[in-house]
Amino acid sequence: MTTTTAFDALSTLCALAALTAFTKETTVSVYSGKDGKCCCGCAGTHRYNSRLVATGSANRGYEVTADEINDAEVTRVLRAIAEGDVSGLEFGDNHVARVVNGRLFVAYLAD
Ligand SMILES: [Zn+2]
Repeated sequence: MTTTTAFDALSTLCALAALTAFTKETTVSVYSGKDGKCCCGCAGTHRYNSRLVATGSANRGYEVTADEINDAEVTRVLRAIAEGDVSGLEFGDNHVARVVNGRLFVAYLAD
């Protein structure tokens, strides 16, 4: 095994381990929108986990409203992110993202 493949194997393990932090219990909100566009919500939608509405409101600085709560969407986006190759995952501070067929999916944890 070369150094490169060992590193790749470790990277894969790290990505899989990091991904386990994102569950229906821990994910505060999800985003689904056009890849390469603004993420404010004008090119997609942010939806919130009913279990973590208070955290979601605190994260963004104003109240999450009832129409923004959608647990099924949280589940759907988490599934879209988890499916496919680990190399397609992008991790950032408190979030993980994946692009599927030109659509960007993001899951956010508490800040
Ligand atoms: Zn926008």
